[in-house]
Amino acid sequence: MAKKIGVFTSGGDAPGMNACIRAIVRCGLQRGFDMFGINDGYRGLLEDDIVQMTRHSVSEIINRGGTILGTARLPEFKELEVQKKAVEILKRYGIDALVGIGGDGTYRGLAALSKLGINTIGLPGTIDNDVGSSDFTIGFDTALNTIIECVDRLRDTSSSHQRCSIIEVMGNRCGDLAAYAGLATGAELTITPETPITKEAVIEFLRQQRAEGKKHAIIIISEKITDVHEFAREIEARCGFETRAEVLGHMQRGGTPTASDRVLASRMGVYAVDLIAQGLTSVCVGIVNNQMHYYDIEKAIELPRHSSAEFVRMSTMIG
Ligand code: ATP
Repeated sequence: MAKKIGVFTSGGDAPGMNACIRAIVRCGLQRGFDMFGINDGYRGLLEDDIVQMTRHSVSEIINRGGTILGTARLPEFKELEVQKKAVEILKRYGIDALVGIGGDGTYRGLAALSKLGINTIGLPGTIDNDVGSSDFTIGFDTALNTIIECVDRLRDTSSSHQRCSIIEVMGNRCGDLAAYAGLATGAELTITPETPITKEAVIEFLRQQRAEGKKHAIIIISEKITDVHEFAREIEARCGFETRAEVLGHMQRGGTPTASDRVLASRMGVYAVDLIAQGLTSVCVGIVNNQMHYYDIEKAIELPRHSSAEFVRMSTMIG
């Protein structure tokens, strides 16, 4: 009997998730597996929202942002009783392996299911690049390019009006989006969770910049560090530099995936199906030095996230 494989997306959506679903479904079918899509993450699994997929189910999605399977957050999935119910449903469908695309929360759910006897594989799909077992996550490159486009636009107006712009980007306590964006846009200052700086030091820095004749400044800051609107008012009041705050928000999550994300997502999808064909599960997939790797999912969750401190240091030298 053909192996049955389930696939779902979970946590925040990320551009490239569709390219990944497409690769998993098409590669699985090629290998003679029966492929099932689970809608809306762990919530859909518990609601028995599972559909069989054909090659046509994933036609014309490689270029689309978001996820055709939908995604959701279901905090109750941390409870053993809820996980057991999911196992029951998966067994009823005869699912031999479950592939989840998401961030570290999704991995925790997969690790829990794995302990309950389900064969699982995790793939890193999140714009935040906060998965320690992979150099890059699916969606990071697209989000980064979106941020760069927004910052370039803000730079035009900031420069024309001789203002300081403080721009908050996502990252879920991982500074990669801010650090890469800082370097790529020539920001005067980049503030990330890994490279904290006091408000006093920021204000002093801007005072110095003004004294040196600098007419505008771009500050990129990771989310969850401070209230940027309040901070902008404080900067303006204390050093006279007209300052505007911009929170880029969910705009960073959407849009057509870049070539880099489509390629990464497709490589990871094919690799995951290859692992299943070899009988390797309870693992997650990562890219390290441009090579596909797999890790024990439990150990992967404990790995430290990358530090973007070196990028911030470089950007400070040339900003
Ligand atoms: P993103 O990085 O985009 O936020 P994520 O996968 O980390 O993605 P979370 O909301 O943290 O997003 O997790 C997704 C889902 O995984 C949760 O809504 C929950 O259903 C499940 N989950 C998270 N943590 C656990 C856990 N400790 N045990 C079991 N399931 C979990």
